[in-house]
Amino acid sequence: MSLWLTGIGVSRGIAIARVQKLQAGDLEIPERALAAGEVDAEVMRFAAAHGIARQQLREVRAQIPAGTPSDIAAFIDTHILMLDDRSITDGTVQTIRNQRINAEAALRKTRDALIAVFEQMEDPYLRTRRDDVSHVCGRILRVLLKSERQLPQRSGQTEPFLVVADDITPADIILLSQQHVSAFVTEYGGPLSHTAILARSLGIPAVVGLRDARRLLRDGETVVLDGEAGHVLADPDALALDFYRAKQRAQAQYRANLIRLKGREAISRDGLHLRLLANIELPEDAKVAQENGAEGVGLYRTEFLYMNRKDLPSEEEQYEAYARIVQAVAGPITIRTLDLGADKQVDSGRSQGPTPNNPALGLRAIRLCLKEPDLFRVQIRALLRASSLGRAQIMLPMISSVQEFRQACAVIDAARLELIAEGKQLSGEVPVGAMIEVPAAALAAPWLARQARFFSIGTNDLIQYTLAIDRVDDEVNYLYDPLHPAVLQLISRTIEAGNAAGIEVAMCGEMAADPKYTRLLLGLGLREFSMHPEALLEIKQIIIESDVGALRKEVASLMQSQDLQEMRERINALGGH
Ligand code: PEP
Ligand code: MG
Repeated sequence: MSLWLTGIGVSRGIAIARVQKLQAGDLEIPERALAAGEVDAEVMRFAAAHGIARQQLREVRAQIPAGTPSDIAAFIDTHILMLDDRSITDGTVQTIRNQRINAEAALRKTRDALIAVFEQMEDPYLRTRRDDVSHVCGRILRVLLKSERQLPQRSGQTEPFLVVADDITPADIILLSQQHVSAFVTEYGGPLSHTAILARSLGIPAVVGLRDARRLLRDGETVVLDGEAGHVLADPDALALDFYRAKQRAQAQYRANLIRLKGREAISRDGLHLRLLANIELPEDAKVAQENGAEGVGLYRTEFLYMNRKDLPSEEEQYEAYARIVQAVAGPITIRTLDLGADKQVDSGRSQGPTPNNPALGLRAIRLCLKEPDLFRVQIRALLRASSLGRAQIMLPMISSVQEFRQACAVIDAARLELIAEGKQLSGEVPVGAMIEVPAAALAAPWLARQARFFSIGTNDLIQYTLAIDRVDDEVNYLYDPLHPAVLQLISRTIEAGNAAGIEVAMCGEMAADPKYTRLLLGLGLREFSMHPEALLEIKQIIIESDVGALRKEVASLMQSQDLQEMRERINALGGH
């Protein structure tokens, strides 16, 4: 008999495959008292296991195929760094010595204490990092207990398989992807976990948070997984199988058609050229962006240069990173200045102080840069130097007033004069634009447009701040609504203010990458879309099929509607998916 289960769909796609359950991640950890003479040997045993665990992670990293998005390797690097963190290494050694207990038990205590710290964190994104602690300590524990988790060995087998587990580490996902796993289901995790992000990057359909999945699904049985809806259908009947096979074929066909669009320009049915740009996180991503047909980079998030390290990147290091991108990309490159704070915390780069209660409303992005001018100055100098090598422009995040924008421009001007006085060769003026991601900036757009050379709408934050919803808090996720009329009004006003002032307006928030909203945004007058490179072709397809003139009229009319339900229905009727 068929069985329907529902979890959280975190990575799109249909899979029809046989279940392969992974052995439980939890381990039996014995505690044993040590005699005084055994302590040194136990510390050595821990150090050896730690070394093996690190080596294992390095091997996984080395197996990542060339051309894979760089964030995948970054996940493994994060685990390698965490493995070497002194709170894990020194903490465990101290417990072995002070409490005279075996390494496994000492490591468990370290792990549990660290997890308790993460679980108390206000920020839900940081709370999910408890999983990383658990994965990293779990790897050392398995070496100590000689209980390595066996991943399915598939050599010679061609039948599609789907993994069901309590939890899966990023490293295991990489190994499973090499075995061509069709999909996976986990009992724990949420859409923000690294496991979910990796599944999306690797294109593996996935459902997480499906409690009891291991009890309810049987090894070897056939299941259908819909990674968008979050459904898992066990033992499907012939009718259901036919339905999902047809859906799977349609999706494969759709993807194959998209690939043909790579070299084509994004020109609408009525002849309008729209600009499709890429959001990138690391210099290496520039190549993937070009391969996917991006005309340039609409958002380079520089904060990733500052993450996972103890020191700050020097001007020279930053210059080299920016120069690499500027030289690699033929089109325009919008480099965003540091957007640290809120869900993007780093070890370096900020003065130590108490953790704010509302980090998203606190000293983040441009506020932090203006408060710590030395930090900002170094980045600006590197940016100005690199921009002379190509078509770079500077984008300021989280601007909330004209005055703040002017203040940042003054720092940029001062850095330029400094460089000129030092005899550095600079190109002409580098355009400076504002991210519109705070409601105040959207409302002040007509004034800001007289100062800024371009706008880029950051809907991820604009929605969070307009609707007062913490964007990484699962509990209020259901309120996160790009179609809320207040959000649409702010987007529309920003585009209109930009157009009236004759400056370019782009959108670089996730809304620009969602095919559900492409026609609405075209109708609101948006002409530049910036998104993660994997989304580019799907959006291009919609643009090519759209009549922008007709959409302008329809959207202008529906925005006048007083009946919100009707407005939403008319937006949905625009299509785009
Ligand atoms: C945004 O806020 O929409 C945006 C693109 O910036 P980030 O997601 O990096 O805050
Ligand atoms: Mg933002």
